[in-house]
Amino acid sequence: MLAKLLVETAGQIEPTIEKIIAEFEAARICTPASISAIGHRVVHGGSKFSAPVLITKEVTQVIEEMTEFAPLHNPANLAGIRYCLERFTVPQVAVFDTAFHQSMSASATTYAIPVELAKNYGIRRYGFHGTSHEYVTRECARRMKIRYEVFNAISLHLGNGASACVVQNGKSIDTSMGFTPLEGLVMGSRCGDIDPSIPFFLQRAAGLSAAAAEALLNSKSGLMGLAGTNDMREILRRSAKGEPAAALAVEIFCDRVRKYIGAYLTYGKPHAVIFTGGIGENSTLIRALTLAGLPHMGIRFSDKKNKNPGPDGLISESDSIPVYVIKTDEELMIAHATWALVNDA
Ligand code: ADP
Repeated sequence: MLAKLLVETAGQIEPTIEKIIAEFEAARICTPASISAIGHRVVHGGSKFSAPVLITKEVTQVIEEMTEFAPLHNPANLAGIRYCLERFTVPQVAVFDTAFHQSMSASATTYAIPVELAKNYGIRRYGFHGTSHEYVTRECARRMKIRYEVFNAISLHLGNGASACVVQNGKSIDTSMGFTPLEGLVMGSRCGDIDPSIPFFLQRAAGLSAAAAEALLNSKSGLMGLAGTNDMREILRRSAKGEPAAALAVEIFCDRVRKYIGAYLTYGKPHAVIFTGGIGENSTLIRALTLAGLPHMGIRFSDKKNKNPGPDGLISESDSIPVYVIKTDEELMIAHATWALVNDA
């Protein structure tokens, strides 16, 4: 809702938040006076936060420092926090997209570049979408009646942004997004994994500046670069009509997700594989194409269940590693985290 309102209100944080409050009031959800705490989604918390925190001056300072790593997201997050700190006197909590992945090992977070350089500049895998991966894996463990502390899963968040994550014993041990959200799966407008030399080649061969190359890989690549739109529904429609570029985009998207499933199965047999995000939750075809060819790895989806996942979201055959479709709910996760922290304080 915030993103939609930000567009409607031309990116201005104050009218956006006031509009949210007015809508809540109109819907009789709450009044400004009845709000007892506020939870903020913050994309980048760097290495400093492995859990939600009560917002203090120091916390806002760290979020500001992390702006260098997340220039598109952290400034907007910070503007929302600063406005709410002025507008409300209630406790406020920051829930970081990176926090869930702080449990990853040095092997999963370290890039093979000179160690000193990586240390000095904070270059490492941080991972994102943590709140979503945690929500769907917790929800899946609940549905399967397995304690989260011993739950193992591969979580696939396929939306405009897309990432895969391996959870072992209720903790993230690897994820496809890296230093920034650019790495990993093919996304709406981000390229995901490419040969790292491509941006340098583009600078030399096409005369792009470093900033232009970065913008190209973030905003004009992925599905947008392959098929001219980041809307998977549109691409699937065009692919069904036989448009080669759209069909290839779908194939590349699914092949990349399957490659990550294969890689992540090397961590051991999971209790479940989970699809979430706008594409993962809604597209029967993307799920089918992604899972095709995986029976030799123990994953067999049911055509019937995939077309119509029941209330439990299970779409696999009984002899398969269970595959679930679970609607993500990052807002609920943030609300729970905020509630827990405020009640502990
Ligand atoms: P965001 O990452 O911005 O939150 P979403 O999780 O809402 O994005 O996912 C948006 C993507 O989901 C878009 O590519 C959209 O086309 C796709 N999507 C939504 N519904 C469907 C559907 N029924 N079939 C295929 N793709 C869908």
